[in-house]
Amino acid sequence: MGNPEFTSLDLGGDPEKKRKDKDESGKETRRAFLRNALIGVGATAAAAGGFGLASKFLGKEQTRDKEQTRDIEPPPVELVEDRRAYKNGDTIDTQAGAVSVEGWKLVFDDLGMKRFAWHGTEKGLAGYSFRVKDSRGEQWGHVSHYFSDQNPISSQPANKARRLGLDHPYLQLLPDLKNPQMTLDLAIYDSGQGELLERVLRGTNERKKPQATKNFRHRIMLEPNIYPPQDREDMPRVCSESKLDHKLLQPVHELHRIFSQFQKPSPVYVVDGVAERIPGQISRRDVADHYDPAFTYAVVSSRRFTDPRFEREGEEVACHEIAHSVARNAQAEKKSLAAWKKMESVHEQVRSNTALTSLFTEEDYIKRPHVRAPGQEKLGHPETNPDELFASALVVLRYYAKEFLNRLQQFPSRERAGAKAAAAGVIGFLRSMNANGETLKRLLPELESLKQELEF
Ligand SMILES: [Zn+2]
Repeated sequence: MGNPEFTSLDLGGDPEKKRKDKDESGKETRRAFLRNALIGVGATAAAAGGFGLASKFLGKEQTRDKEQTRDIEPPPVELVEDRRAYKNGDTIDTQAGAVSVEGWKLVFDDLGMKRFAWHGTEKGLAGYSFRVKDSRGEQWGHVSHYFSDQNPISSQPANKARRLGLDHPYLQLLPDLKNPQMTLDLAIYDSGQGELLERVLRGTNERKKPQATKNFRHRIMLEPNIYPPQDREDMPRVCSESKLDHKLLQPVHELHRIFSQFQKPSPVYVVDGVAERIPGQISRRDVADHYDPAFTYAVVSSRRFTDPRFEREGEEVACHEIAHSVARNAQAEKKSLAAWKKMESVHEQVRSNTALTSLFTEEDYIKRPHVRAPGQEKLGHPETNPDELFASALVVLRYYAKEFLNRLQQFPSRERAGAKAAAAGVIGFLRSMNANGETLKRLLPELESLKQELEF
């Protein structure tokens, strides 16, 4: 499927409402903030966590910020490091509220953050920012909040953070298979940085960067359930967030191994959905299956593997996402460019003809009644772009070749020619990466029948 949509998160609530709540002195805003944040809560601010175990200077780190937001990385300042490695089920006590590790998710405590914001304003603080990085220094999103005197409860949408119910923003992380350790950095800014922080977080082009008054670092050890490599030539290829039975992951591992004979595919992550935390309401939201070319990972929802109504779904969806990674990685390495040009031209034909589009849509081959989870798209949309045509057509040609050929027979001759050209384009792209017939047959078990009918 395509890239996931991240819903943005505004820690300060509705911006329209905020404007209405504000008066010239700003006091009304504080009162409104209290009303919003502290209704029904008598507790005091969360206590500071157990820090001070280690202290060092934080250098300027080389990070590629893929979030396309202004980088508010501070210049060298003192860093307080917590040496403990937090794992699934652990809670990190931070000055800006508790952060809990739930599988590969970091769940933030919105109320704790709001309390900290309120007390922070009293103490002359300007804001804070949680940032998560993996062992390679890649940023995995942030949850930021600033509260300058001019604008005490304003906040910044947290890139890539999603919400669990009303009060729990969270970040979905994926572990690097070689080193699954991540860091959670909390930077706290004092009031002297308020205006600058506000401008930077708003995305105004600022050269000067705000300097954090305090920096705290916590380690998070994500635990990938990896399907084990089978021999010395093998490697980790697929892992899951929860301890899924390796029997379920085995077909994906094998498929990934076959794909790697064509082009290096990206690893597959099987990710759990989240339970919505809305009081009185139990519901589940699944992660959308997708491939992210920037981070080079293929993500499949774990529900695809655990639905007894359709036991091969996980493998098929993984095939679609691995196919995306193969096509993208080939292009990144400038390989098979001529064959890809052909894919682009056949996509033009498929896109403009609904019968052809359906012929290459995997959802249209799934016979059993299939209930899509909320937020899950239909399986396959070859009309979108050549990448989607390749991924969808590959699933159809691998898993539904016989039915594909039957449907093809019933096409009027002009459309049949277009369909044959499209299928040949897909297979041609594979052959441009590896021309060995035996290898191709492992990916397309019905290769002989396809060859006969498609005349290649
Ligand atoms: Zn896709």
